[in-house]
Amino acid sequence: IPARDRRWAWVEVDLAAIRHNVGVARQCIGRGRRLMAVVKADAYGHGAVKVAKTALNSGAEYLGVATVDEAIELREALINAPVLVLAEPPLASIPLLLAYKIMPTVYTPEFAIQYGEAADAFGVRAPYHLKINTGMNRIGIRHDEVVEFMTQVSFHRALDLVGTFTHFATADCPETLDFQIQTKRFIEAINAMRAAGINPGIVHAANSAAIIRYPDVHFDMARLGISLYGFYPCQETRRMVDLHPAMSVHARITEVKLVPMSEGVSYGMQYRSPGSVKICTLPLGYADGYRRELSGRIDVILDGQRCRQVGNICMDQCMFEVDMRVYGNRRRLDPQIGDEVVVVGRQGDSIVTVDDMANMLGTVPHEIVIGFSHRMPRIYV
Ligand code: PLP
Repeated sequence: IPARDRRWAWVEVDLAAIRHNVGVARQCIGRGRRLMAVVKADAYGHGAVKVAKTALNSGAEYLGVATVDEAIELREALINAPVLVLAEPPLASIPLLLAYKIMPTVYTPEFAIQYGEAADAFGVRAPYHLKINTGMNRIGIRHDEVVEFMTQVSFHRALDLVGTFTHFATADCPETLDFQIQTKRFIEAINAMRAAGINPGIVHAANSAAIIRYPDVHFDMARLGISLYGFYPCQETRRMVDLHPAMSVHARITEVKLVPMSEGVSYGMQYRSPGSVKICTLPLGYADGYRRELSGRIDVILDGQRCRQVGNICMDQCMFEVDMRVYGNRRRLDPQIGDEVVVVGRQGDSIVTVDDMANMLGTVPHEIVIGFSHRMPRIYV
């Protein structure tokens, strides 16, 4: 029985959109540079293996993840491309890194030395990328301590510096001074490495926002995250590139009823029926990532027309109203059990976006897409 028949709520992922977005990033960075597809957090909720394979087939060469387990999932799916864990993993994971040929990010001498020693014991190389903290102050070796660090660990012959990178805190912000400071510190650190005879390998810094906005920081590789999935990192980028969102969320109506005027709907009964609507139930709720704070504030799309979600969103279900009056240019809708409703995405001329939800909740699209839980099957189209 297909997944979408077992549960009347599902997430669709459009792989053609992923291919398109990789193409857009490739155009931004031009020839002669590598592109890393950032597929951490299960490819921002889209499904890591499918997205990684699609990105690699359409112009990406590298994969970025957050944890060793995410990297192992890719290897077990027989993906051979270079995989970088974007933070330093626990020391205990070193044997797994070597066994699965997963590159760690490194920035402490303890990790570098133990990683080098373990590789030596196995008679293999210990490839890694060095992370420089240029101002975000999350992880990394301080920008002015890089040469000292490298000198400290350089006695280890198995250690193999494949790349050097930093991460921007404000590439998506209107204010550019902090971005310029980070860029300057990064370039100075790379120059200091070269002056000390240390080859930094693949130099990389750009996330989605910097890929689109700042060609000067494309260096040897760029790391494409949120825009791989079709989202604009900031307002300004909307007029610079054309991205296609890959994710949409769908459900089927499980119940339809006329509710007498002033009857309440859902927990707390904060919504009362005006009497002229049909209340329809959908089998998805906040356990699926349809956040409770959206209750009564968001629309769904039925038959190409927007309808208001009403009453508190429950854990596994929610309701919306279909106005039975005809006004303006609205057609009369006739909701039936089993009708498909678009919760996020486009149907006809109507659209409900992840950005709408993110704006309402005061968050970023990343958090919304990652929030759609795996209780909803992923359907690839
Ligand atoms: N590089 C690193 C180190 C990251 O942590 C991330 C995501 O947070 C990315 C690249 C991708 O960033 P974005 O999703 O903004 O493109």
